Amino acid sequence: MYDYDAVVIGAGLGGLSSAAILARNGFKTLVCENTNHIGGCCSTYEENGYSFDIGASIVELSWIIDELFEKLGRKVSDYIDWIPVDPIYGFLTADGKRFTYPVDPDETRKVITGFSEADGPRWDRFQKLGQSAIREAFGRIMTTPFATFGDAMKVMAKAPSMVKLVKYMGMNFESTLKSFFSSEQVRASMSLQSYFIGLPPALCPGYIAFLAYAEHEGIYYPRGGMVQIPGSIAKIFGEYGGEIRFDTRVKRVLMDGGRAAGVELMDGTQIRSRFVVSNINAKTLYLEHVGRENLPAWAVKAVESYEVSIPAPMIMLGLDTRPDLDAHHTFCYTTIEEMNAIWFEDYASRKLPDRGFMLVSWPTHADPSLAPEGHHCLNMVTFAPYELADGDWDDLKERYLETQLDFLEHRFGLKGIRDHITMARVSTPKDFARMLLHPGGAVYALQNDIMASAFFRPRLRSKAVKGLYLTGASTHFGGGVPPTIGSGIAAGSLMLEDFGRVM
Ligand SMILES: Cc1cc2nc3c(=O)[nH]c(=O)nc-3n(C[C@H](O)[C@H](O)[C@H](O)COP(=O)(O)OP(=O)(O)OC[C@H]3O[C@@H](n4cnc5c(N)ncnc54)[C@H](O)[C@@H]3O)c2cc1C
Repeated sequence: MYDYDAVVIGAGLGGLSSAAILARNGFKTLVCENTNHIGGCCSTYEENGYSFDIGASIVELSWIIDELFEKLGRKVSDYIDWIPVDPIYGFLTADGKRFTYPVDPDETRKVITGFSEADGPRWDRFQKLGQSAIREAFGRIMTTPFATFGDAMKVMAKAPSMVKLVKYMGMNFESTLKSFFSSEQVRASMSLQSYFIGLPPALCPGYIAFLAYAEHEGIYYPRGGMVQIPGSIAKIFGEYGGEIRFDTRVKRVLMDGGRAAGVELMDGTQIRSRFVVSNINAKTLYLEHVGRENLPAWAVKAVESYEVSIPAPMIMLGLDTRPDLDAHHTFCYTTIEEMNAIWFEDYASRKLPDRGFMLVSWPTHADPSLAPEGHHCLNMVTFAPYELADGDWDDLKERYLETQLDFLEHRFGLKGIRDHITMARVSTPKDFARMLLHPGGAVYALQNDIMASAFFRPRLRSKAVKGLYLTGASTHFGGGVPPTIGSGIAAGSLMLEDFGRVM
């Protein structure tokens, strides 16, 4: 009757993690992936001998990956060669000053006291709270199903440090940083992390500010590129008999008596399954693939209320020289006010970014094997609107590239870098949307404001459609490598609970 126990739509981290858990537990599982590559936003492609990451460029909270591999009966070190990344960031200030934040919190303290003696002890306080928040609270709940206020209370009971964070749920990122640090320099240097969930410091929930500590628990780059993470999970999935079909786009979820009962592909092929797992944007899933006609009115209203997250145009550069930068990630910033202006002025008025990019990732700093000998890769990332007021991304690629290269030469001080560029590729929000079918080119699926976080986000076990499970950035704790893997673990445990196997 059924072709598979489970069909998973999308081979991103969330989908693959839950698929591997299902396969390990004896479920006949198929993953349908629209592209010809594994990993969605956490992937790597090769061009002219250079390897470029499509999205994610670093891993923090790596113990979530350890937890997944343990559940799969495997050791991470047999599959992934982690390269520790230190320092965490290089910074370039508006007046051309350079400094770095090392992984060691005590070394970072020295940098912070260089800006403000008073902020040294405040960093200690921030670090202490960050440590318990990250280790005890975020770490634990990222892999725990979490659908209601009641679930939140249960987690609180098990992770008392969460109570200390409640205060910051009512604050924004900016006011949280202000409540700790007096130096503008220090606050601004930690403000980038708000955009790591796709929001400016003024709108981002306050507890996210503790991500600025999370990186001091250690950050890593997998040798061979970010694709090694989904590649390893896919390998284990295959070892347990799982099947992945590439270039296979799901058109709709098949419904049978109100239950999800398989998928229909673009070519009309129907694949029947006991249940369906989605790793795609929840708005697309519900409104297009399930269809409004199959949803209760409250569900349509709830799904429509979510905004998709901000897009991030990227520029990938191949260089025949070593760039004069200090770290795997270099962050160019001025003030918190400017970080907010990117959203409230540029994004709101649908302007092509001209303040310059904020983050440059230099993966060959960690792993030289990603480029030909003596060559390097740089990825330049900023945030920008999907629809532009003064034209279309497809026509403005060249202008965007030139603006950003000017910025690289003048603001980042990489004078003459143009003479060393062997290849340049611009990936606009439109390209990103076409490649991964992310509506609006959204990088983190749905916007992650407080009303779309945790139990306010679409549930892992659909309430509106029986037999439908969700994973990935639209759910649970939103975007990021650890949260999406965590969503796969948490959704996996729900499916095992519902379908009677033991992990
Ligand atoms: C520019 C950028 C930088 C980032 N940097 C970091 C970082 O440094 N560290 C970090 O932790 N996180 C980072 N992230 C976030 C992280 O990469 C993502 O949140 C995470 O990889 C998303 O995983 P996911 O499970 O939601 O699936 P996705 O990556 O969204 O994958 C979904 C998959 O579904 C497929 N699909 C879509 N529709 C269909 C369909 N109809 N049929 C079949 N297949 C379909 C897509 O092709 C895709 O492969 C970054 C993201 C971006 C975009």
